[in-house]
Amino acid sequence: MTRSEHIRALLEEYAQRRAENEADLRRRTDAAFGKAPEIARLRADNAGLALDAMRSILTQQGAEQRAALAAEMKRRGQANNARIRELLALNGFPVDQLEPRYRCDKCRDTGYVGDAPSRFCDCFEARLRLRLHEDGSMAGVKEQNFDAFDENRIPEDDGQRARTLKARQVCEDYANAFPNTKYRNLLLTGPGGLGKTFLLNCIFERVTERGGSAVRITAFRMFEAMRQQHVGNDGDFAGFSSLIEAPLLLIDDLGTEPMMRNITVEYLFTLLNERGAARRHTVIATNLTPVELKERYGERVASRLLDRSACGKISFTGKDLRSL
Ligand SMILES: [Zn+2]
Repeated sequence: MTRSEHIRALLEEYAQRRAENEADLRRRTDAAFGKAPEIARLRADNAGLALDAMRSILTQQGAEQRAALAAEMKRRGQANNARIRELLALNGFPVDQLEPRYRCDKCRDTGYVGDAPSRFCDCFEARLRLRLHEDGSMAGVKEQNFDAFDENRIPEDDGQRARTLKARQVCEDYANAFPNTKYRNLLLTGPGGLGKTFLLNCIFERVTERGGSAVRITAFRMFEAMRQQHVGNDGDFAGFSSLIEAPLLLIDDLGTEPMMRNITVEYLFTLLNERGAARRHTVIATNLTPVELKERYGERVASRLLDRSACGKISFTGKDLRSL
């Protein structure tokens, strides 16, 4: 993908986010109106106030009368708002229940800041950098996609070809169904050279091709984002938080990243836990067996990686395709 293609894809992602914000605001507003109908009446009164004020002002003579009227409208609006705040609190709603909530308050999720000529917001630049960065570190999606999958390269003996075709089917079904996948997560395990990275890239290609938003990263790069975050060097790069927020995150080669005290296990746990809580999709490829995952990352991380209710596991076995 070129830089301008990344920008276009990101702008679409932001548009999607704004649509989600609007839907979220509608849900919260409906909830408040449902529980406290008086709030709906006060809001309607507020909306009518502006119109009333305009009409009355047009028919009034004299600056004094107009100013008095404007002051009265303002007082009524403020009284309405005070009563709305009171009703929200009484009904257990937060003060911003009726306000839009943005992931980035600076650009209100538009990706732009400033008047014309406006520039990209820091949050946008950060996500753009992450996209450009991860692209450079991994194979191009042009060569690695489901259409380029060549089963003739896979030996037929011991059922390796049949198993790989089955794995391919699971991955393709997952990518085609995203975000309504059978399992939220996929774990691709087995020794190197059996096509895990290839299939991970295929999923990435298909999901992004279908307009989905995905971040693909090697475990090594993921570790770098964690380390930067940990030492506070992250600045506005927001690498780690973009990993938490990506609707689909694909991590390749988990287990090859450095093991650093207070970083690797802790941040991986945070990442998996936050993503799980937000029900975001994660695909992981690793050479480690479930037992080795447990040894390396401990019970808490392993239980999230191997959680049967959320994770489809595909085990790869057979001959290394690279040596054939
Ligand atoms: Zn922003």
